[in-house]
Amino acid sequence: MSECIFCKIANGEIPSNTIYENDNFRVILDISPANPGHCLILPKNHANDIFELNIDMTKEAFGLSKKIAEAIKSANIAEGINILQNNGESAGQTVNHFHIHVIPRKTDDKVVLKHEPSKLSDKEMNDIKKILTEKIQQF
Ligand code: 5GP
Ligand code: ZN
Repeated sequence: MSECIFCKIANGEIPSNTIYENDNFRVILDISPANPGHCLILPKNHANDIFELNIDMTKEAFGLSKKIAEAIKSANIAEGINILQNNGESAGQTVNHFHIHVIPRKTDDKVVLKHEPSKLSDKEMNDIKKILTEKIQQF
């Protein structure tokens, strides 16, 4: 039996504020929302992160994020929306079951997702471009 809290929520063993469900996913309200209407998209089958989620489920998950974003927009509860998906502790992942955040945003709300801008040298930019241009061919 899985000890994963999001497995239990996704499969209905633990109650949640569910706003949508299909065969593969459950969409719930975050228990500690960044703003009202902050949703989490959870696959019903466990995957730690995007690397463990197969491509079809990944497409379905991000497709679902558009559906949730459309619902939030048409409910008039946001001026903007962030789609966020964390992988690994260094990236802020705290629950090791893949999930996508759909976060309603308003001007001057207290949500902080920004990075500090940095500047790369031409060499650094070219080196990372070369590595990623090669690696992307494998997927
Ligand atoms: P992460 O930091 O891993 O990307 O996001 C985990 C999210 O799950 C957090 O926003 C947190 O508030 C939410 N969360 C953690 N435990 C629960 C829970 O038991 N129920 C719900 N609805 N959300 C949870
Ligand atoms: Zn799980």
